[in-house]
Amino acid sequence: MKIKFCGAAQEVTGSQHLLSINGKNFLLDCGFKQTNSDSDLIYNRNFLFDPEMLDAVLLSHAHLDHCGNIPNLYKQGFKGSVYCTKPTKDLSRLIALDAAKLQAQAAAQIYKVYGTITEPIYKDTDVEYAWKNVIGVKYYEELQLDKNIKAEFHNAGHILGSGQIVLKFKDEDDGQNKTLLFTGDYGRRFMPLLQDPDIYTEAEYLICESTYGNGVHTDISTVFDDFVWLIKDVYERGGKVLIPAFALERTQELLYILHWLMEQGRLPKIPIFVDSPLANQMVEVYEDYKEYFDEESRQEFYKRGKNPFKAEYINYIEGIEESKMLNGYKGQAIIIAGSGMLSGGRMIFHFMHHLPNSKNLVLVVGFMAGETLGKQLLEQPSDLMIFKELVPVKAQIESLDSLSGHADKLDLLNYIEKMPKLKKVFLVHGQPEKMEVLRAEILKLKPGIEVLMPVLGEEIQI
Ligand SMILES: [Zn+2]
Repeated sequence: MKIKFCGAAQEVTGSQHLLSINGKNFLLDCGFKQTNSDSDLIYNRNFLFDPEMLDAVLLSHAHLDHCGNIPNLYKQGFKGSVYCTKPTKDLSRLIALDAAKLQAQAAAQIYKVYGTITEPIYKDTDVEYAWKNVIGVKYYEELQLDKNIKAEFHNAGHILGSGQIVLKFKDEDDGQNKTLLFTGDYGRRFMPLLQDPDIYTEAEYLICESTYGNGVHTDISTVFDDFVWLIKDVYERGGKVLIPAFALERTQELLYILHWLMEQGRLPKIPIFVDSPLANQMVEVYEDYKEYFDEESRQEFYKRGKNPFKAEYINYIEGIEESKMLNGYKGQAIIIAGSGMLSGGRMIFHFMHHLPNSKNLVLVVGFMAGETLGKQLLEQPSDLMIFKELVPVKAQIESLDSLSGHADKLDLLNYIEKMPKLKKVFLVHGQPEKMEVLRAEILKLKPGIEVLMPVLGEEIQI
């Protein structure tokens, strides 16, 4: 067996790992790099392997940095199938269609400003063609990829339908039976809506994410109390709460938490506006897969007959005009809108209107990357440059890290400790300095094993 690390190698986006087993080639994830630097655009257009020689793709989950380059794979000659869980199939299609729309808009903008014609990496028709070949399976369903190669998806607890990928095969190079586990993005216990991530103990070879390889999150149990005291304060002073959120998973989790607090009487029933057409489509997919939710959320739907996405105080905004009308909305409200990292999206327009008012609160509940407006806002500036306009920042700014969807250092170490057969770990999907910390801790825990931090394009024979 050979692994070539073709993305998310010593960085967090563009997840792609190529496995060559018994003359067959399988790609784990086919992600997009999400920054817009020239080198990333080149990376997204060209693969580090020939797509024509791939036999199948196994997709861990529906985030863009894991699924976003699948249409391009087909454009460049891939003829096989993509396997993932059923919710991932539906969610990733919406993510890819949204990415196609953004690429078309960017190309139109470049033409308008520079008069140059640029070809998007893929169009919506490429997405629809590609998704005809995506096969949705159930967790633990055994896939026979080749005579001696089987695969299964186990719950990763990161977003709806997210999977860890298990590969069991007889390696013709040495005649040995081997088990490889790819964590995908590995989630946390006790998250709203989601079942806790599975513990798979049989792995001998582990490709492990390391996003928070050196960090420890605040306990999730504090999030309900934090929401109550922060939002009640704003309510009493007659302000609005603005929550930037990703359309996938974070928006649905927020709705679940807010609905629960309002139904329990811990928060007044303040109107909630979800101002993201993509999030609205995602909510519909969530409702199709209630059986994937955790016990508590299923009880809410089936036994108590409450739908956390469809209460009378939850409003879904579609058109731009409707979104603009929110500026004139009188009274308290909670506005949830994209983008999650404030790198674009409708929330930026709400900021222009609401940041100058000290009654309002911006509640940051996700990771903010460098160079984004979100990162600048967390530094509590007195004003912020938005679309060439200097906007005074008088609103209260608060940040909670307890909703992170990634396992932290302790979660990952706890998991790895439960793998008695482990021989080799490949750390991916993390920044080198964070990986180094995790690597040292794993070696303390299991001194006999090898822990590698492959670089982009590195090939390792096992
Ligand atoms: Zn993810």
